[in-house]
Amino acid sequence: MPIQLQDFTKRFDNTTVIERMNLEVHDGEMLALLGPSGCGKSTTLLAISGIHRVNGGQILFGEEDVSEQPSQKRNVGVVFQNYALYPHMTAYQNIAFPLEVRGMGREQIDKEVRAIAALVHIEQYLERRPGQLSGGQQQRVALARALVRKPGVLLLDEPLANLDAKLRLEMRSEIRRIQQETGITAILVTHDQVEAMSMCDRIAIMNEGQIIQIDTPTEMYRNP
Ligand code: ADP
Ligand code: ADP
Repeated sequence: MPIQLQDFTKRFDNTTVIERMNLEVHDGEMLALLGPSGCGKSTTLLAISGIHRVNGGQILFGEEDVSEQPSQKRNVGVVFQNYALYPHMTAYQNIAFPLEVRGMGREQIDKEVRAIAALVHIEQYLERRPGQLSGGQQQRVALARALVRKPGVLLLDEPLANLDAKLRLEMRSEIRRIQQETGITAILVTHDQVEAMSMCDRIAIMNEGQIIQIDTPTEMYRNP
């Protein structure tokens, strides 16, 4: 599903962090929001997810203006750097949870959980709790939980930041594979240029609440 921000504006108290930002994410593409700490990347992502309210402008999913919709109503899956898994639940229960709260029946839930577990390659870990999984495995579970409702949009906020170098490389290509296999429209927030270059179709460079350049990795490499 394509995403558009039109004159998106966000304030905290009296401080304007983002002013009239415009951005278009194409259907099925993975776009990086790249920029230094504090430039407004997470704020943008949280507004798209509905966790933050906008103070001005519009957010469109396809043709629909979702700016006033609460987070649960929006067709999005979110993954954070700290995984945010429920520690007392198994991987299976974590993934099933978003379906249970929507009242889906047990058999259907089982089918959906096993399908998504196969996609992210965690079938053998489903009975473990987060504490019994590596960081990479936990991030796979978090991806499965974000995708199990088949959202139209996947939002990734520094998903690799807590992983060691080896796992980070592995998960870069894994996240890209999963995004391409599902064809989901995705936004990756990162401050790592190599990560943005290697994972995404286009890169939007942010600075102080503005997008200052947006292009493909190839074009950025040619015209830095
Ligand atoms: P980034 O993700 O690029 O590191 P953020 O979007 O987290 O940046 O933050 C952008 C700016 O907004 C920063 O100056 C930050 O201090 C401020 N900010 C973020 N969240 C809040 C909040 N809940 N209350 C007040 N200021 C905030
Ligand atoms: P809930 O019981 O509402 O799902 P959570 O603790 O999971 O509460 O999340 C709190 C907020 O953060 C919610 O608005 C939820 O949409 C969002 N959130 C947290 N983690 C995720 C995730 N992995 N996928 C989607 N949204 C999430």
